[in-house]
Amino acid sequence: MAEKILVIGAGIGGLCTALMLAPSGREVILLERDGPVETGNPDELFLSWKRTGVGHLRQSHAFLARLRNIMKAEHPALLDQLAELGVRELTFENMLTEHQLAAYKPEPADEELIILTSRRTTLEMAMRRYAESLENVTIRSGFLVRRLITSKGADGVFDVTGVEGEENGAPVRLTADAVVDASGKSGFTIEQLIDEGASIKEESESSGILYFTRHYRLRDGQDEPDRRSNPPATGDLGYLKFGVFPGDGGNFSITIAIPEVEMEMRKSILNPDIFHQITLMLPGLYPWTNETRSESTSKVFGMGDLQSRWRDMVTDGRPAVRGYFALGDTLIRTNPLYGRGCSFAAVSAQRLRETLDETADPAARAVAYYNRILEELRPFYLTQRRQDRSAIKRAKQALTPGYRKSLRSRILESFIDDGVRIAVRSDIRLLREAMRGFHMLEHPDKWLGKPRNLAKVLYYWSRGKKSNAAAYPPNPGPERTQMMQALKLDYQADIDRMAEPEAAAA
Ligand SMILES: Cc1cc2nc3c(=O)[nH]c(=O)nc-3n(C[C@H](O)[C@H](O)[C@H](O)COP(=O)(O)OP(=O)(O)OC[C@H]3O[C@@H](n4cnc5c(N)ncnc54)[C@H](O)[C@@H]3O)c2cc1C
Repeated sequence: MAEKILVIGAGIGGLCTALMLAPSGREVILLERDGPVETGNPDELFLSWKRTGVGHLRQSHAFLARLRNIMKAEHPALLDQLAELGVRELTFENMLTEHQLAAYKPEPADEELIILTSRRTTLEMAMRRYAESLENVTIRSGFLVRRLITSKGADGVFDVTGVEGEENGAPVRLTADAVVDASGKSGFTIEQLIDEGASIKEESESSGILYFTRHYRLRDGQDEPDRRSNPPATGDLGYLKFGVFPGDGGNFSITIAIPEVEMEMRKSILNPDIFHQITLMLPGLYPWTNETRSESTSKVFGMGDLQSRWRDMVTDGRPAVRGYFALGDTLIRTNPLYGRGCSFAAVSAQRLRETLDETADPAARAVAYYNRILEELRPFYLTQRRQDRSAIKRAKQALTPGYRKSLRSRILESFIDDGVRIAVRSDIRLLREAMRGFHMLEHPDKWLGKPRNLAKVLYYWSRGKKSNAAAYPPNPGPERTQMMQALKLDYQADIDRMAEPEAAAA
């Protein structure tokens, strides 16, 4: 008889699990606390979909190529349905500067570097409809899982055999061969296991930023600004990072990420007028948000509590739990700036299927799944955590009066800014290789570890700024003080706060 798998949550991780397990013939039942998709109209859905379980539903989302490639390999028809609903594909060619385009010759590998982007509500609607159409997948909306059904084995390892909850208010108990926990950022079911004493190790730290997103719509007759003749629509000014997410149906969103230490800015940016004013002061955003081009269609959605978190479900080869598999944000959370969360969920779901197909032994399954996750995702997690730590340090230093960077820091920064960045903006082959790491198609550091690539980076670095002048992007925006003064914000307050011993030590 086919195995029965219960999945807690029909967000991205739950849907990916359905996509991966359905072809294996298993019975897959997704239990989702929130209501169903009640309209086929993406604009209506964006306005009306109540998603208590996904606080970041209206934050900008894009899917890295790794996720698209998985969809393409496993469910090509889903890509057609995404396109029908207006989900966009941004190709490698779209990313090239004018200078790079002149020398560009398409290669088959470029097909593997395509990003999917739209409002998250639209992406989710397309994935959900497609998953619902699969024969052995059921989505039970309005089902809040309250508890896992657990027992502790004689060996001290927990067994999960089902869930208890409420379906549209009525109590329900369901048993299964395995439970997949894809309950996401707001999920609480794994806490039960931790509270009961399952040996789940957790490391967690702040990613150091807050996210602010506002949606816009192109005015009638207007197209998106040309990416090549305008300054880059993403950038990093130190005190803020920005990016445009092209959406479906003439919509797009702007996300501005602010370091946690920039208290004045993060308080004020929720004001739509301040948010808009910032966009108009950034040369990469002005072409998108000026009055002629577009109008805003939403408030500013703010999002904090952006933690990086890794959970180990196996310690020294011994599983904490049998019959229970965590994935998505329940298992690993990453800084949204890298856009990796949904791809992590998809890769995990794929590895879960391989594991379930490989063995029926519950303990062996737990260990094999864990090892696959460790091998596939840990390098990306560690790289982003390293980058976050260094960005947090830099944001604090920028507010520290009289701070002078060490020689080592200056050399490292110059290597990244004047070496790596300029090399990938100059040489398409290098950009292609770097993008493979960015899109999680290979180890994030692999491309730079190749002697030929490192030599090329060193070549550009050693040429100096004058020879590389054409490869530098235009200035992304004003200095902090200038921006704060224009916004009538107190630019000194955070500097004073940083001078207090507790803040500096934090
Ligand atoms: C601000 C922000 C921006 C992001 N941008 C990107 C991006 O651009 N690209 C990217 O790849 N990732 C991005 N991410 C990360 C990405 O959104 C998550 O990694 C992804 O949604 C994880 O999927 P999930 O299934 O674990 O959680 P979710 O997609 O949040 O789904 C969890 C589901 O479980 C349901 N649920 C919770 N508890 C229960 C319960 N007890 N019973 C029943 N149902 C329950 C919820 O209602 C929800 O539907 C972003 C994250 C944030 C916070």
